[in-house]
Amino acid sequence: MSKVLVIGAGGVGSVAVHKMAMNPDIFSHITLASRRLISCEKVAESVKKLVGVDIDVAQVDADNVEETIALIQKVQPKLVVNLALPYQDLAIMDACLATKTDYLDTANYEPRDTAKFEYSWQWAYQERFKEAGIMALLGSGFDPGVTSVFASYIKKHLLDTIDTLDILDCNGGDHGQHFATNFNPEINIREVTAPSRHWLNGEWVEGPALSHKQVFDFDQVGEKNMYLMYHEELESLATHYPEIKRIRFWMTFGDAYLKHLEVLQNVGMTRIDPVIYNGQEIIPLQFLKAVLPEPSSLGSTTKGKTNIGDIATGQKDGQEKTVYIYQVCDHEDAYAETGNQAVSYTTGVPAMIGAAMMLTGAWKGEGVFNIEQFDPDPFMDMLNKHGLPWQVKELDAPLAF
Ligand code: NDP
Repeated sequence: MSKVLVIGAGGVGSVAVHKMAMNPDIFSHITLASRRLISCEKVAESVKKLVGVDIDVAQVDADNVEETIALIQKVQPKLVVNLALPYQDLAIMDACLATKTDYLDTANYEPRDTAKFEYSWQWAYQERFKEAGIMALLGSGFDPGVTSVFASYIKKHLLDTIDTLDILDCNGGDHGQHFATNFNPEINIREVTAPSRHWLNGEWVEGPALSHKQVFDFDQVGEKNMYLMYHEELESLATHYPEIKRIRFWMTFGDAYLKHLEVLQNVGMTRIDPVIYNGQEIIPLQFLKAVLPEPSSLGSTTKGKTNIGDIATGQKDGQEKTVYIYQVCDHEDAYAETGNQAVSYTTGVPAMIGAAMMLTGAWKGEGVFNIEQFDPDPFMDMLNKHGLPWQVKELDAPLAF
């Protein structure tokens, strides 16, 4: 029986809190805090309606470490689940250190003024978390998150050694809008417009953004163009699985999405440096976010499925073998259960499961950990039971370039 404090009442926070409320034996008391109280109240209302559970709500500016410390002291949670934006990661980790409280997130820290995400800033907390006797679990969403747990499951059960690993992220959903992103538009566009990067023989290989693509036939979705991209789990997997020679990440995009993005980039709307408009400084990408649909508003109209998984080639009993583990999630089913579409659902459920691993003691440690460092079995088991069932297939050949 444990108290949890969730920070961030967006799409992901909403799903995680709904799923926590469905598991009162693990999450005995839930407080949801966010920058705007109204965001928390909307989630609390929906949790009451769909699950029949009361949660507490609070207002916090998580950029302000002192405010977060005061909230943690008041709520006295066993664990803080950070589902705000990557910009808040370090401030929330500082508040956890000050109050000796465990920490979990789904996305690695990113400074506001540089579109650059890497683990170095959060890994730098390793010694301080160890000394404080607390645990941080980084990247407990789908990707990063489940895709890294899939890799450790492959290593534990399916292959003796992994030579190559490809992560394939397909959103086959249609929201009926000309242009919208399925999670926070600012973070999404920063990620998609970054140069591509993959791990090859101990080095990073960089290329222009969205310049390399191939067609893949996704189960229950069909054929889609998928593009080589950089994604944050590549860094932690390359660190924790040095045996893997090549690690790549692919994401599908429709032609209409890419056309809009190209135009927005060409006219300067994706810039993250300030410009003066009417005597006031604005960041074009933040302005763009303000005029785009809120990802949470897409839930009621999105149809179709997501299919995200890992293809790994390696050795099993002296033979080369290729295995594929993937998960298919239906947008309309996710909405019926939690009031949110599948992209929020596939992130919020693993956030709940990661929190359950920590609160039940299935995963424990002192210091800062990535998700692939723990035993995958109890996490994989909970995926099957809590809405994200997965499948394993053997393929005839590795993924082509
Ligand atoms: P949203 O933009 O929908 O929600 C973010 C929430 O954070 C909002 O409710 C917002 O507050 C709150 N927030 C922002 N700034 C602050 C602050 N300073 N203090 C307190 N609260 C704040 O994003 P998502 O729910 O889509 O994404 C949440 C996180 O999940 C992001 O970090 C994202 O990168 C990550 N993610 C991870 C994925 C994975 O697979 N690993 C996939 C998708 C997302 P308010 O509404 O109160 O103003």
